[in-house]
Amino acid sequence: MLRGIIIDVDGVLDFRGEVLPGATDAVATLRRSGFALRFLTNSTLHSRRSRAAKLVAEGFDVSPEEVITASYATARYLEQRQPTSCWIMTEDEGLSEFSTFRHDMEDPEYIVVGDYRNRFDFRHLNRALRLLLNGAKLIGMNPDLVDRSTGEVELNVGAWVRLLEAAACVQAVHIGKPQPFGFALALAGMGLRKKDVVMVGDRVDSDIKGAQRFGIRSVLVKTGEYETGDLSGSVEPDAVIDSLGELVPLLETSPLFATP
Ligand SMILES: [Mg+2]
Repeated sequence: MLRGIIIDVDGVLDFRGEVLPGATDAVATLRRSGFALRFLTNSTLHSRRSRAAKLVAEGFDVSPEEVITASYATARYLEQRQPTSCWIMTEDEGLSEFSTFRHDMEDPEYIVVGDYRNRFDFRHLNRALRLLLNGAKLIGMNPDLVDRSTGEVELNVGAWVRLLEAAACVQAVHIGKPQPFGFALALAGMGLRKKDVVMVGDRVDSDIKGAQRFGIRSVLVKTGEYETGDLSGSVEPDAVIDSLGELVPLLETSPLFATP
C-alpha cells in the first residue's frame, strides 16, 4: 500500500524560477489524499527552511520539516560522526545547517564540500588538498558533476570533490542523490517502510537511480532537466509521466500503486 511520496524539487515543482504547470495543485491533492510527503533535493546552497520558504512563496503547501536538502542531510551524517571540527565549503543558507559544529579552516577533521561558488579558487582548493594529504576526511554534499538548473551548464559539487579525491588520492563519502542517505532520512521521517513509498523525480541518474539502489519504486517526470534519451540506459522507473499533475491520476489508476 502506498503511503508516502518523496518528491524531487528542482525540475519537478519549479524550474529556473518558474513554478511548473499543475505542480501546486498536485501537491495539494496528494496532501488531501493523506500521503506523507518529503521533498528531497541535492541543493547545498539552501537550508531546509529557506527552500521551504521559497516553495511556500510559490504557492506550495510545504513545511521546513518536510524538506531534505543535501546540506541538511550532510549535517545529519556529520552529526553521527561527532567531528571535532570541520571546514564547510558552502555558501548562503546551506551553511546555516552546520551552525552547531566547530568550524576550522586551519586543521579540520572533516572537509565538507558543497557549492562554494567563487571561493572554489587556487587558494582554497590548494588549502583543501594539503589538509587532505595531512589526514583530513572528505565529504561531498552531492555527487552531481554538472548543474543545468540555471540554464547554463556549470561545474557542480561532485566535480570539485572528484578533483580533490584524485589529487589527494583519497576517497570521499558522498551524501546526496543517488546515494541512499537522504532517502533513508526521508523514510525514517515519515515512519514508513520501503514498500510504502515512491520517489518522483526528473533525473534518471539521480532520482530514479537512487530510488532503485535504495529499493523503492520510482516515477520519472518528463519536466525540468529530463532529456530525450535519458531512458536509454539500464535504469528504469516504474512509471513515466509528462508532469507532476499526472501523478494523482497515475496513483489512482495504475495497479502498481494501490491507493492508501
Ligand atoms: Mg530535479
